[in-house]
Amino acid sequence: MQSVDLLTIGAGGGAYPAAFRLAKAGRSVVMVDPKGVMSGNCLYEGCIPSKAMRETAVMLQSQRRFATRGLSGSMRIDYAQMIAHKDAIQARRYQQHAAELAAVPNIRLLQGVARFLSPHEVAVTTATGEQCFHCAQIILASGSEVFAPPIPGAHLCLSSHDLYKPDPTLKKLPGHLIVIGGGYIGLETATFLAAFGAQVTLLQRGEQVLDGMDPALVAQLTPLLDPRVRILTGVDVTAVEASRRGRRVRYRRKGKNEQLEGDIVLMAVGRRPVIPAGTVEIGIAVGKKGVEVGAGLQTAHPHIYACGDVNGRVPLFHAAVRQSLVAAHNILGGNQPLDYADFSHVPTTIFTLPAAAYVGITPDQAAARGMALVTGRYDFAEDARAQILERTEGGIRLFFAPDGLRLLGGWVLGIDAGHLIGQIGMAAASGLTAYDLARFADQHPTSAEGIGKAARSLF
Ligand code: ADP
Repeated sequence: MQSVDLLTIGAGGGAYPAAFRLAKAGRSVVMVDPKGVMSGNCLYEGCIPSKAMRETAVMLQSQRRFATRGLSGSMRIDYAQMIAHKDAIQARRYQQHAAELAAVPNIRLLQGVARFLSPHEVAVTTATGEQCFHCAQIILASGSEVFAPPIPGAHLCLSSHDLYKPDPTLKKLPGHLIVIGGGYIGLETATFLAAFGAQVTLLQRGEQVLDGMDPALVAQLTPLLDPRVRILTGVDVTAVEASRRGRRVRYRRKGKNEQLEGDIVLMAVGRRPVIPAGTVEIGIAVGKKGVEVGAGLQTAHPHIYACGDVNGRVPLFHAAVRQSLVAAHNILGGNQPLDYADFSHVPTTIFTLPAAAYVGITPDQAAARGMALVTGRYDFAEDARAQILERTEGGIRLFFAPDGLRLLGGWVLGIDAGHLIGQIGMAAASGLTAYDLARFADQHPTSAEGIGKAARSLF
């Protein structure tokens, strides 16, 4: 039995920021992850590789738009080269993380799968046998995994793992992609592949894609998506089969049995938390969304923290990083909840083409809570940068409390959404008001001008 100050189960965004902070404070740290590399699913099959592909789609779209505005030349995708670019980014970032790890003396990254033996003991199954650790502190950050529903033939579908992992399974552009699931992964992937030239049919069980997002924002986004993405809602998929073309999907819609044929099927019905063996047995409560935690991210055992996707609160990489640091601070404070994660101001971007982003309270949440909002507006139709880019759809909405005009939330649809929502989120998390935003000289000619102008639309 080896002794460590901190063991992290997983080496993703919920784990490594704390691991580094504690190692720098002189604690001995072991991170355990079956991948044997740092960064979890974000770099392996999530945010980074998908955005590497998205940027190619953005450039392709822009090039097409500018074909009669001074840009000419090839406007075709070389899928294999694009994958090579994606793989190279992943490899480069893995190298960078390896160097970061090597620079800190008291951290070890152990390739293996961890399981709890007791509240202070963790066993790790590695390729060469089992190692056991006595841990003063534990951060449970085992993340989430693709959920495979019990549909006959589900194994014939690809998942985001198969599209985005290094050296992915999907190596060429399909003619017709069928996506099961209208969450952000399904919809983003649908729009990238459509931009590359594929026909896409997206099958969504409910009546709205992007379940959980403000319906008014979804209603503005969907008409702007590539017409090669056909969205069918109210679909109950009953089976996936092999067919001459590739795959056949059978489903029920409006009381009728229907079917579709495509080259491949992407199963994207969601992700679920990964709960390491022994978690429940040692008395850690696991609810519907994941491991249950208190405000300081502690489980029922004050020395065991659960950060990131595993607690299901806000399953986004940047939220996991912040949670990891909160756990580190509370560990350094002697397992007192001195620091707290702010789950109400985490910017969320759906990186479709165009993107939609939101933060804080939006109108449907306000309505559900019986709250009134005052809305500041700015449309990209009047925006200089949007006009230069010929992307004038969408705009910025800021939602303020009627009493005092404190910024409670906002959304951005269209250009630079993923960037702008960060500034809006920072303002909301800092308690700024419409007056504060209105008197800030946002830089010209950037889309950030729209934030000040949306605030000034109230005065
Ligand atoms: P987060 O961003 O919440 O940290 P990720 O899903 O990116 O989540 O990373 C979690 C990591 O934890 C993944 O690399 C996953 O392989 C790893 N993991 C999952 N289960 C275990 C386990 N039992 N032992 C060690 N690592 C695990």
